[in-house]
Amino acid sequence: MATIIKSSEEILAKTAGPGAEPCEGVLEQAHRMALAYLAKLDASSVAATADLEALRARLARPLGEQGMGAEQVIAELVTDVEGGMTGSAGGRFFGWVIGGSVPAALAADWLTSAWDQNAGLYATAPAAAVVEEVAGAWLKEILGLPQAASFALVTGCQMAHATALAAARHWVLAQQGWDVEEKGLSGTGEDRAPTIRVVASDEKHGSVMRALRLLGIGRAQVVDVRTDAMDRVEPRALEEELERKPGAPTIVVLQAGDIHTGACDEFETLVPMAKRHGAWVHVDGAFGLWAAASEKYRPMVRGVEIADSWATDGHKWLNVPYDSGYAFVAHPEAHRAAMSYRASYLTYDGEARDAMEWNPEFSRRARGFATYAALRSLGRAGVSDLVERCCAHAHRLGERIGALPGAELLCEPMLNQALVRFPDPRPGATEADHAQRTDATIAAINATGEAFFTGSTWKGRRVMRISVSNWRTSEADVERVVRAVEGACSG
Ligand SMILES: *Cc1c(COP(=O)(O)O)cnc(C)c1O
Repeated sequence: MATIIKSSEEILAKTAGPGAEPCEGVLEQAHRMALAYLAKLDASSVAATADLEALRARLARPLGEQGMGAEQVIAELVTDVEGGMTGSAGGRFFGWVIGGSVPAALAADWLTSAWDQNAGLYATAPAAAVVEEVAGAWLKEILGLPQAASFALVTGCQMAHATALAAARHWVLAQQGWDVEEKGLSGTGEDRAPTIRVVASDEKHGSVMRALRLLGIGRAQVVDVRTDAMDRVEPRALEEELERKPGAPTIVVLQAGDIHTGACDEFETLVPMAKRHGAWVHVDGAFGLWAAASEKYRPMVRGVEIADSWATDGHKWLNVPYDSGYAFVAHPEAHRAAMSYRASYLTYDGEARDAMEWNPEFSRRARGFATYAALRSLGRAGVSDLVERCCAHAHRLGERIGALPGAELLCEPMLNQALVRFPDPRPGATEADHAQRTDATIAAINATGEAFFTGSTWKGRRVMRISVSNWRTSEADVERVVRAVEGACSG
């Protein structure tokens, strides 16, 4: 015990003089280094430049017996990770669906760490609880969801699925007289849980399956329904599937914002149809739900508000730093039944909102601060503008890149996603040749450091996705990126 106390005192002594705040030096250093990183984004390679071997060689040191001063730790960390960052904080990163961070959200996120609140309960973090209560109401307002819906601020959209689908599981089984929180999914002896059927788009995101798995629902209980040319669920296919097993406890999973086309399911038709069959409707709106924040794109999600639950992200299109997803549930009693936990040593508040009643975590980060700050700094008009600008850039990038010699635009961009490919021009080239050339072109573009894109396979064809969800992307970035792609195509 004595040696530990001695060495931690030594660590503090290396960090600060007597009477000084021990964090001061290192936080000022981190502040300077963070600003230097952001200031260099425009001039830096978007792709990482250090490879796995280099990063391991720099970082994998033996853990020392003795500690070292905080400033030295941070200085070495920053040097060691150099080149190991993708430029996703900047405006020329278009891979997957990765958002940036608006300044107010980034600053609030720093303070969240300094405040170090455990936001599980009102008693452990009173201000955080109230900030979440307010942020939740604002999010419902901006996304056009019912104000009576309950919500949870979680780590990401996948955990928002897990949260909302736990409420769905509770509800569909309660309709059959089965208490899943009490009896689980296997039951005992002859007393077996009714089998839940999940009916989902065949273009559903992998995070839906992972969330279902955590809830004890496997591949065999999930039925895929056919989608159309833009990846929207075919209403006939859904109806047929629902008619196949009348009365079975059913969860229907729809999508706002397909990762390839950006398309949204026809909620206006599909949600009432599913409800006529007694199903719970959950919507994966990781980024697409944000269409509701813009008058121009809102028609794409018309009818989404009549679903039973929704999952979306703050760290994608709202541009909150990572670790931010949101679950909303139109049946607060089902949501609370699925999540609530009471123990005598915990202190519940009758009036305030205890996150533990709604969240899957126990101890948790006070992640509401960053969301609150993002929404306040942007305002309703700012969120709408962010959505519309990203869409405009995606459309322009799709059109400009698609018009380059050697490139082809594959579908009209609908939201903030576009798809192009680079076909092999040789006569008689096969789909495999086109795929090879498309992947090679993506690699060549990324190697320039000017832009970063990722590939995918869509309807049997290899494609390059153009995904825009960062407030920093500017018209100048779009021009710069088109030039880089042009160079890579002709190179
Ligand atoms: C990103 C994404 C998810 C998963 O979100 P996480 O925040 O990464 O958990 C789910 N669905 C869609 C459509 C997505 O784009």
